[in-house]
Amino acid sequence: SDRVETLEFQAEARQLLQLMVHSIYSNKDVFLRELISNASDALDKLRLESLVDKDLDVDTADLHIELEIDKDARTLTVRDNGIGMSRDEVVGLIGTIAKSGTAELLRKLRESQDAAASQELIGQFGVGFYATFMVADTVTLVTRRAGQSGGTRWESAGEGTYSVESVDDAPQGTSVTLHLKPADTEDNLHDYTAEWTVREIVKRYSDFIAWPIRMTVERPGEEGATTTETQTLNSMKALWARSRDEVDEAEYHEFYKHVARDWADPLETIHMRGEGTFEYEALLFLPSHAPLDLFSPQGHRGVQLYVKRVFIMDDCDALMPNYLRFVKGVVDAHDLSLNISREILQQDRQIRAVRRRLVKKVLATLTEMKAERAEAYRTFWGEFGAVLKEGLLEDTDNSETLLNLLRLASTRDADEPTTLADYVGRMKDGQTEIYYATGDSRGTIENSPHLEAFRAKGYEVLILTDPVDEVWVERVGAYDGKTLRSVAKGQVDLETDEEKAKTDQERKEYADLLTWMSEALADSVKEVRLSSRLTTSPACVVGDAHDMTPTLEKMYRAMGQ
Ligand code: ADP
Ligand code: MG
Repeated sequence: SDRVETLEFQAEARQLLQLMVHSIYSNKDVFLRELISNASDALDKLRLESLVDKDLDVDTADLHIELEIDKDARTLTVRDNGIGMSRDEVVGLIGTIAKSGTAELLRKLRESQDAAASQELIGQFGVGFYATFMVADTVTLVTRRAGQSGGTRWESAGEGTYSVESVDDAPQGTSVTLHLKPADTEDNLHDYTAEWTVREIVKRYSDFIAWPIRMTVERPGEEGATTTETQTLNSMKALWARSRDEVDEAEYHEFYKHVARDWADPLETIHMRGEGTFEYEALLFLPSHAPLDLFSPQGHRGVQLYVKRVFIMDDCDALMPNYLRFVKGVVDAHDLSLNISREILQQDRQIRAVRRRLVKKVLATLTEMKAERAEAYRTFWGEFGAVLKEGLLEDTDNSETLLNLLRLASTRDADEPTTLADYVGRMKDGQTEIYYATGDSRGTIENSPHLEAFRAKGYEVLILTDPVDEVWVERVGAYDGKTLRSVAKGQVDLETDEEKAKTDQERKEYADLLTWMSEALADSVKEVRLSSRLTTSPACVVGDAHDMTPTLEKMYRAMGQ
């Protein structure tokens, strides 16, 4: 037909597909989870749209997902009667990867040499729809957007191109048909045309999906005849609405993978319930690794919002502060309007109260993890520590708790970071302040002449290398009544009385030299002082107590200020 168009995949999409076709991921079963997850999203979207848009003429009485196996044709079809896609959406959503971090992922994949590391990267990214090309030679998608009359047929073998064609007879929603790779190849471990296999995969990965996942199966009937019967394969129980002892860890983990679009298990699960004037249930997760878009302004942040089991929105940032943007999960609030907008949510007093409770709970969980599961906390800190520090700027209500969650590098031990409390516990007699040095790396800080006097005295110095460190130490100012003092600023008083007398004497002796040097260097420095800071270097440049530290100065200069 003249309506068939052949289009090229976007470059990034093509590269990712290559990886799928030549399947570097060993657990191929997850393709079905991805398709069911998309179908479930499409049903959520349709229900919401039909509630919000009264003019949308759709039948939402029997929203469901259907699986169909054709053994002879070796196909597996996943069908939903959800929101569907327009032709433009098919091209934009399936032919393109809009996810931020794609370029970064591909760069890392090119650099990574071993298969296990590549798998982990793919897992972190979550390849979604493209996972189908691990098991299929050809994928056909037929879809019609709710409210539109014409449909679209999309087909691809996962190599460079795909075809799109307008079709008249597509039912509303989306069907994805996989033409499965030959069963006897070595890398096809499972036969996805076997009813039992499909049933097991649905049970394992998608049991909690809120919509029925149906399959018509054959059963032996009377006298050798076979009858067919349609079964629902999943239990459809909303996990967050169940009590904690009814849910096992594997179920929590699969649910996490669905909401977070992650392929790895979470580090921690938080299941809570709020009663009283404003009822809600929350099922939150701390991921075990940072997403690639953690520091990207377009990155996903926030949790999913439901109202009495009805999906309302993804990335609900009103429920989680920016510095906890890595927290994933679901909050089901019972007393909100289904039409609630992001703007109204931001203003809503009750939502703010829920958010305060969630933040307290997440921070309490981290505090407990730090005390009782040191290894897990180490992982957490390595992935999200730099983000959590942003809380010291944003969330003054919780700064005590946040300060106690810090793990900071110090001169004491290159491999073992310290807490502020432990630092204070080790402070020497006569030491009244907490010393820190900021810089790009541990190496440059350790070689800086600023550290010499501290090293000579045996004083421990915190080594701060995250860009945000500069800012929070200034903002926080002190811990446990002890000033946080940069080693690069002002006159650091490390001398004993005896040493002071000696310095005074020396100052007199060198007075003429110092005056001469001050005059000679008048254009570059404010003052030339005799110093007790240095032990091996002859001279160093220091800032005034109120000056910016060199790193901050560099940061501002880089920003063009
Ligand atoms: P993700 O689900 O993480 O967005 P996918 O690759 O799984 O990534 O899907 C890409 C997009 O294609 C989805 O976000 C959705 O907009 C669209 N899509 C996929 N499957 C369906 C479906 N069954 N119905 C409607 N839209 C779909
Ligand atoms: Mg998906």
